[in-house]
Amino acid sequence: MPQRILEPGQIETAGQRATPRVRLPARDRVFARRAARLRERAMGHPLADYLRLLATVCDAQQRALVGFSASPPSAAQIARAREHAMPPLLASGGPREPHWHDVVHDIAGLLGAADGMPAAVGDLAARLRSAPAAWLEQQADALLAARAGAIDVAAAPIVMAALQVYFVASTAAFTAADVPLLDVRTVCPLCGSAPVASIVAAQGPHAGQRFLHCALCATEWHRVRVQCTHCGAGGKDIAYRTLARRDAVDDIAVADAEAVRAETCDACHAYRKILYEERDTAVEPVADDLASLALDLLLAQDGYHRASGNPLLWQGTGG
Ligand SMILES: [Zn+2]
Ligand SMILES: [Zn+2]
Repeated sequence: MPQRILEPGQIETAGQRATPRVRLPARDRVFARRAARLRERAMGHPLADYLRLLATVCDAQQRALVGFSASPPSAAQIARAREHAMPPLLASGGPREPHWHDVVHDIAGLLGAADGMPAAVGDLAARLRSAPAAWLEQQADALLAARAGAIDVAAAPIVMAALQVYFVASTAAFTAADVPLLDVRTVCPLCGSAPVASIVAAQGPHAGQRFLHCALCATEWHRVRVQCTHCGAGGKDIAYRTLARRDAVDDIAVADAEAVRAETCDACHAYRKILYEERDTAVEPVADDLASLALDLLLAQDGYHRASGNPLLWQGTGG
């Protein structure tokens, strides 16, 4: 008799064909797209200067990423990660190759040379252009482990931006099929970091599917909709919030025109933003999260806390 029962690996493969469970970052445009979105959202925005400053940081990231290579993990490391369902590029696991320090210096150089920057940004850029290696490593360890007391708050967005370049470059070693399936679905399957927001795709094989977007390496992984991305609760505990109104259903067609909403959970009182490509094909998780900080203020007033922070804005909430 032929074997009729599918092994778990075969089920996973069949499922992938229907709904790809991972979307790896497009390294030729990941930061350029973020920069463009920040500039678009800056128009008429109360925090326009701040969003444009961060767009300059993203320009520098894209420039640094071109030609930046990180040594790939060995086949044995990838196999071990799959076997143990562990993220193969575990962010808090170190050590890192030291050439990510050059990215800090490059971003600081570009910021220092940009027109119209506030004096404080110029001072920060000067300080980071000559930041010593040991200090950068200590800051990276503190940021990736979210040890708030050890973090230089002013420098954190730039250090994190350089680490993003390093980790996006590291994902180049992977195909979607190499990415392990983790038991814990609330962290990135490649680097173990928390997601910054989620995005509901509008096109292609992903249409209608929701993906969580890694704050560090920009990998996206599938997550069912109407489920808390922090504690896993679903159903009646989940609601959707914009600046204007609160909805009980995850259906943009019946909501207002907002492409960015907050998905709140009454089981754990956490929330993350959820972005709808169907409303605006240019939505980008890091950029739209920053451009919707007014929504965070509203949710804080209502007693909800962010499930995790934005990588370009150190808020002390950690990941
Ligand atoms: Zn990641
Ligand atoms: Zn929850």
